[in-house]
Amino acid sequence: MAKVVIDADECTGCESCVEVCPEVFAFDEETELAYVIKPEGGPEDCIEEAIDSCPVECISLED
Ligand code: SF4
Repeated sequence: MAKVVIDADECTGCESCVEVCPEVFAFDEETELAYVIKPEGGPEDCIEEAIDSCPVECISLED
């Protein structure tokens, strides 16, 4: 099962991923960046949607 990863160096904190897939992504008010709350077993459709919605393409799936 692939694991969802955000490259925090690239993330701009735009919250797109959080909007389209709140089951998997959340916004950290302290860092003002998104982070992964459910790296494995989340709904694949919305993970793909989040990957597509990320303006800096910093969300990836790792084996
Ligand atoms: S969509 Fe990408 S840049 Fe925007 S908050 Fe999510 S991971 Fe960060």
